Amino acid sequence: MSNCDSCSSKGNCNSEGTGCGGKLEPKYGKIKHIIGIISGKGGVGKSTVTGILATELSKAGHSVGVLDGDITGPSMPRFFGINNKRAEMIQVGDTEEIKFRPVKTSRGIKVISLNLLTEQEEQPVIWRGPVITGVLKQMYSDTEWEELDYLLIDMPPGTGDVALTIMQELPLEGLVVVSTPQDMVSMIVKKVIIMAEKMGINVIGAVENMAYIKCGKCGEKINVFSKKSAKEHAEHLGIPLLAEMPINLNLVESMENGTVEKFLEESNEYEELIHNFKDRIM
Ligand code: ADP
Repeated sequence: MSNCDSCSSKGNCNSEGTGCGGKLEPKYGKIKHIIGIISGKGGVGKSTVTGILATELSKAGHSVGVLDGDITGPSMPRFFGINNKRAEMIQVGDTEEIKFRPVKTSRGIKVISLNLLTEQEEQPVIWRGPVITGVLKQMYSDTEWEELDYLLIDMPPGTGDVALTIMQELPLEGLVVVSTPQDMVSMIVKKVIIMAEKMGINVIGAVENMAYIKCGKCGEKINVFSKKSAKEHAEHLGIPLLAEMPINLNLVESMENGTVEKFLEESNEYEELIHNFKDRIM
């Protein structure tokens, strides 16, 4: 499906129906905003931030999809507690083509992940780069997204093959960069930011995750990794700070229990994140 009808360059470009500038368009849906969530290295909370953003956008009344692009380390089904469900694979008419029906979370967020397509979630992916990027593109193109306001892509960490494919071939509107306030992490994150700049991709801002803990008794904010503030780290990265998030054991517990959406429905902790995010997109 192409959205050329509304394009001012209609008839003057050579994209041949693949979408603006030759970018891939989903076959079974129309998506207003496609945003990638990326980090320099694993374990800093990229998937957690993807899930929080998706839930907060859904709370604000938007229709949301999540593409788990971290093919070798998919964690979105576990985040939403839907890891015991399977995405349906449906034959398209009489053709050999298959489309995917995403699994819906309790809020109705549409999620597709390799872990929802394989029989067991522990099954590893032992594929080389080109196969992995092919699968990623197929999950993006062949999923029944229908009408979405936002598709959030949980990208693999770093500047590898899949990240490059997403930046080059998908109509990404921008990237949210997740980091922890540590000089070592910032150095690696900087590589991602420079890569995005070289590819002409807008960097929406940084989320400094696990930046501090709050004392349960006196409420004092204690920086965990660095004496520098999250703001100073974002300034060093040269991108706006969207939010500074604490280590939150209640959040972790709700993820472990599969009740994260309920936890987030009752929490207003991430209002700043969603406010700053939407401010930089609309
Ligand atoms: P990534 O996608 O960058 O690899 P994850 O989102 O999977 O990272 O998070 C890594 C681990 O850290 C997970 O166990 C997750 O539950 C935990 N985690 C992430 N963010 C927070 C947070 N703000 N508070 C507490 N634990 C967190």
